[in-house]
Amino acid sequence: VATAREDQTGPVRPFAGEPVSAGAVLRVIRDAGTLTRAELGRRTGLARSTVAQRVDTLLRHELVREVVGGDSTGGRPPSSLAFNDGSGVVLCADLGVTHSRLAVCDLGGAPLAEEVEERLDISEGPEAVLGLVHERFGALMEQADRSHSHVRGIGVGVPGPVAFDRGEPTNPPIMPGWDGFSIPGWFASRYDAPVLVDNDVNIMALGEHWTNWRDRGHLLFIKVGTGIGCGIVARGEIHRGGKGAAGDIGHIRLAGHEVRCRCGNVGCLEAVSGGGALARRLSERGIEARTSRDVVRLVKDGDDAATRLVREAGRNLGEVLAGCVNFFNPEVIVIGGDVGQASSQLLAGVREIVFQRSLPLATEELRLVPSGLGDRAGVIGAAIMVIEHVLAPDAIDRAIRHAAA
Ligand SMILES: [Zn+2]
Repeated sequence: VATAREDQTGPVRPFAGEPVSAGAVLRVIRDAGTLTRAELGRRTGLARSTVAQRVDTLLRHELVREVVGGDSTGGRPPSSLAFNDGSGVVLCADLGVTHSRLAVCDLGGAPLAEEVEERLDISEGPEAVLGLVHERFGALMEQADRSHSHVRGIGVGVPGPVAFDRGEPTNPPIMPGWDGFSIPGWFASRYDAPVLVDNDVNIMALGEHWTNWRDRGHLLFIKVGTGIGCGIVARGEIHRGGKGAAGDIGHIRLAGHEVRCRCGNVGCLEAVSGGGALARRLSERGIEARTSRDVVRLVKDGDDAATRLVREAGRNLGEVLAGCVNFFNPEVIVIGGDVGQASSQLLAGVREIVFQRSLPLATEELRLVPSGLGDRAGVIGAAIMVIEHVLAPDAIDRAIRHAAA
C-alpha cells in the first residue's frame, strides 16, 4: 500500500482537495485511453467504492465502455474502461472562401463521413451558405448511419476574424454579406446542441495540435492560402489575445516592400507573399494564374517562375516568423494552407531564414514541419473544438444532473 503512489505510471492528477466528479473521472479516462478501475483509483485518489459509483454513472450514460484486457500481470485479465466515442457525433464545417469541407465525426474526432463542397460561396451570404451546409449535414449523417438525436454539437470555422472577449465570441464573423449574422442563432432552431464558431486558422491550429503535437505546449500554425494567417497554441490552448485578433501575421510589415495591402498599409507580408499576391505577380508576367490554387498547380507542374516565387515567399514568411520565434518561443511551427503544403520550397525558404535569424536558444529544439493533417486540419479542429466543449468535466456533470432531474 505504501508504494502504490510510486508504482503508478501515469502522471499524478492534481485533484488534492477537489471533488472528483463523474465528469472529472471521464477526463482521466479520455486522457489515458484505457485503464482499469484500480488505476483510476490511483490517479484520482478516490476510494474503490467511489470509483465504482462514478464509473456506474458514466456507464449508465453510455459515456464509457468496458474493454476486456488491459495491463494484466497474469491470471484473469482485468476489465478496463475506455471512453465510448461512438455515443454521439459532432457536425463540423470548415468554411472557405471558395470551397469548404464538411464532416460528421465521432466523439473521438474521427470522421465517419466527410466531403469537400465546391458549391459553397461565402459571398452568397449566410442563408444560402448555411442552408446548403444544413442539407449536406443531413446527407452525411445518413451516410454515417446517424440521426439528429446523436448530434452533441456543431463546430464551424469561418474564413474571417471572429471577435472574442474573455474567451467568448462576441461578434459575428467579419465577412462580406454576413454583417450582424449569428451562426449559432441560425442553427439553434434546427438542432438542440451547442454551436461553436471560430476563425479557420485557429481551428486548424487546434486540429493539428490535438492530433500530432499534444505533448508540446506551444505551437504556431501558419496558413498560407490566398492570405497568410497564424493560429497560436499556448500552454495547450488557443491564444486569441484580448479581442480575438492575435496571430494576424499577414499584416506585419516586410522591410523594403511598398506594395499596397487590402488593409490600407503598405508592405504587409500577405500583400507581398500571400497566394493571392503570388498569383497576381505571375499573371503580370503573362503566366496564367488567378488564385492561390493556380499557383499551387504551377508549382506542381514544375514552373520555374512559380517555384522561385514560392521559395522567396518562404523567405519572406521566415523573416516574420524569425521575430515570432524570438518573441513566443514555440516548440513547433506547422506550415499549412494550400500554398504552404504545395511545395517543399516554401518550407525550405522559411527554415533558411528562421534558423539564421532567430536566437539559438529559441531554435535549439524548434520543429518546423509541414501540416500532418493537410486539407483536413480545419474540419478535424472544428470537431475537437466542439468535443472539448461538450465533454468538459463541468458540461458532463451538468448533463448528468439534468438527466437525473
Ligand atoms: Zn495589410
